[in-house]
Amino acid sequence: MRVDVVTIFPDYLAPLQLSLIGRAQRLGLLDLHVHDLRGWTEDRHRTVDDTPAGGGAGMVMLPEPWGRALDAVHRCEGPDGPVGPLPPAGDGAEPPLLLVPSPSGRPLDQSTAHALAAEPRLVVACGRYEGIDERVLVDAAQRYRVQPFSLGDYVLNGGEVAALALVEAVGRLLPGVVGNPDSLLEESHEQGLLEHPVYTRPPRWRDLDVPDVLLSGHHGQVARWRREQGLRRTARRRPDLLAALVARDPAALDAAD
Ligand code: SAM
Repeated sequence: MRVDVVTIFPDYLAPLQLSLIGRAQRLGLLDLHVHDLRGWTEDRHRTVDDTPAGGGAGMVMLPEPWGRALDAVHRCEGPDGPVGPLPPAGDGAEPPLLLVPSPSGRPLDQSTAHALAAEPRLVVACGRYEGIDERVLVDAAQRYRVQPFSLGDYVLNGGEVAALALVEAVGRLLPGVVGNPDSLLEESHEQGLLEHPVYTRPPRWRDLDVPDVLLSGHHGQVARWRREQGLRRTARRRPDLLAALVARDPAALDAAD
């Protein structure tokens, strides 16, 4: 998968060189390119913002640098020309997805992360200030599938943290990125529930014991305990998830009886 991120703070994305996502890039599983939007400005101050039309507080990101950036990135180019290999274009390939972090986007969830992991390429446009001039997204829709997404119902200073979260959530689903793919299946949100509590050695720590069942060696009982604990935790912390699961599949909880 190829991912291009456009931002005025490329250094914000540096942590993506670490840990599993960094390793995925070194193994060629993920082809990540981070671009400085200011590379597409044409004035000597490298201006990317101006006052809002209609007045009001804050600044709005200018359409010109964004338009040039998204045109170039669409061709797999950075400000100085081509960057990285072109991704394979299948027959009738769809336009690339342009993901736009925004508090007014649809909240990112695990099923979206899976859908995005199946894409050959993603482009992420990180806004700052009061956001990007709306015409940029209207124009981009001619050559991208534009998808605003939100990290949650709160406001960040910029889209970079959302881009980090997106690349990590999607990148870890790419084949080969996580060593044991089974660990992906058991995680919170994969089956619509939260994961059960987890423990490791030692069996007793500060007078707190690992639950006996986990040390019993009885796989069936361990599986039942985990499912029950996952259900209890979901009911306590996220009853909305439980309700949504039952609405989707009224028989979903039967196995827990
Ligand atoms: N004025 C905008 C609004 O009320 O919708 C918020 C602008 S915010 C200060 C600046 C940028 O941060 C946004 O353009 C977006 O890229 C990013 N951002 C802020 N909150 C976000 C969230 N919850 N999810 C994803 N991106 C967010």
